[in-house]
Amino acid sequence: MKFDTVIIGGGLAGMACGIRLAEAGKRCAIVSQGQSALHFSSGSFDLLGRLPDGTRVEDPIEGIAALERTEPEHPYALIGAEACGLYADRAQTLLREAGISVAGSCRRNHFRVTPMGKAQPTWLTIDGYLTSESADSLPFAKVCIVNVEGFLDFYPEFIAEEFRRHGVECRFGCVNLPDLEQIRRNPSEMRSANIARVFDHDRNLEALAGRLCELAEGCDAVILPAIVGLNRNDALDALRSRVRVPIYLLPTLPPSIPGIKAQQTLQRRFRALGGEYFLGDTVVSAEWEQGRVKQLFTANHGNIPFRADDFVLASGSFFSRGLVATPDRIVEPVFGADTAYIPDRSQWYTLRFFDRQNYQAFGVRTDRSLRVLREGAAVANLYCVGAGLAGFHPVQEGCGAGVSLLSALYAADQILNSPRS
Ligand SMILES: Cc1cc2nc3c(=O)[nH]c(=O)nc-3n(C[C@H](O)[C@H](O)[C@H](O)COP(=O)(O)OP(=O)(O)OC[C@H]3O[C@@H](n4cnc5c(N)ncnc54)[C@H](O)[C@@H]3O)c2cc1C
Repeated sequence: MKFDTVIIGGGLAGMACGIRLAEAGKRCAIVSQGQSALHFSSGSFDLLGRLPDGTRVEDPIEGIAALERTEPEHPYALIGAEACGLYADRAQTLLREAGISVAGSCRRNHFRVTPMGKAQPTWLTIDGYLTSESADSLPFAKVCIVNVEGFLDFYPEFIAEEFRRHGVECRFGCVNLPDLEQIRRNPSEMRSANIARVFDHDRNLEALAGRLCELAEGCDAVILPAIVGLNRNDALDALRSRVRVPIYLLPTLPPSIPGIKAQQTLQRRFRALGGEYFLGDTVVSAEWEQGRVKQLFTANHGNIPFRADDFVLASGSFFSRGLVATPDRIVEPVFGADTAYIPDRSQWYTLRFFDRQNYQAFGVRTDRSLRVLREGAAVANLYCVGAGLAGFHPVQEGCGAGVSLLSALYAADQILNSPRS
């Protein structure tokens, strides 16, 4: 099989890169092993929430300019602050054109609310999810926090505790339906995606709307876990048209309905642009020719190679097995790319879970064009994008989705602007 570009990994970074290349007319394939980090997403895309020293960032592009001075290996520093602003706007357009409706600006963070009710700075939030303009205010004074009976991945009590700190009066409400009985029999089945499938049916959505009308009585807003709209886009609008007060969604523990929907939407967009998506296949090895990648081999296609002019490594970090930790090394398993890590294993992590963890910044080394380094030299036709890149702390800095999206669009431009294109 011959393509212009083959991308390894179909998470946020691989999809964004593939969509950009396909939009530009490139014949593009994505080979993806399985679920991506999007299936665990909060429904928000972070660009830069904090500087490495913990300072909260209000204007992410200004924050990136500061990073550029202090963290030269950070992916944003490689791309450059000015270009990051450009790619952030393009990423927002890409999401919108794909059909993911988001609000936010790369010049001013807003606040999303976590499944525990905490406010976190973020860049873009999918429409329908609760956000606020500041960390200590909410857009309501009296709220009903609704849960589905027996659903254990949503914590109204914790959320209420946080909301009450901001002076919000909280009440609880519960929803139950005959069609939920079957999945409730087994607690491990009582997960957001299964519940959302129940509410995909008109009669159940209608029953939910009726119950929310009762619960909203005397409140000025309703909070609902993200358990609607998995396979239909009109679910929240349908509820809102029936209920007198605003309804806001809050993310649940995984699986994430907004993340699964975002993944499906991006896949559809990529395919509609002519891209070929090989889901459930794993790239296992590469063949080299004069220091360039010639072709790839996958688990499902055996000795049928994937040939291309350019290749993009978007296989993620440890979470997606794009990086693998051995007792003494950090390995990138497909290409044997150079990786940045601390040789002394005792410094890889601290037992204090929420502290800054060194291993999070381990990853694939690249040059300033994001071309992968191998034995110290840049591979001319192999780029690395997304969570597998070295030099950033996605959790502490709140920059996970931003690094994936911006590096993907930047690498796509390197490919499109290369002399071969
Ligand atoms: C649990 C979790 C939750 C997160 N939530 C958020 C959030 O809410 N907001 C935010 O801004 N950031 C979040 N992040 C940060 C996240 O890393 C980025 O937002 C982004 O989604 C990562 O996308 P990616 O495409 O770079 O990597 P991934 O999403 O990890 O995708 C990599 C893909 O490559 C595939 N793959 C790996 N190896 C191979 C191979 N050999 N062959 C073929 N395919 C392969 C994997 O199966 C996977 O599909 C979260 C991260 C994690 C781990």
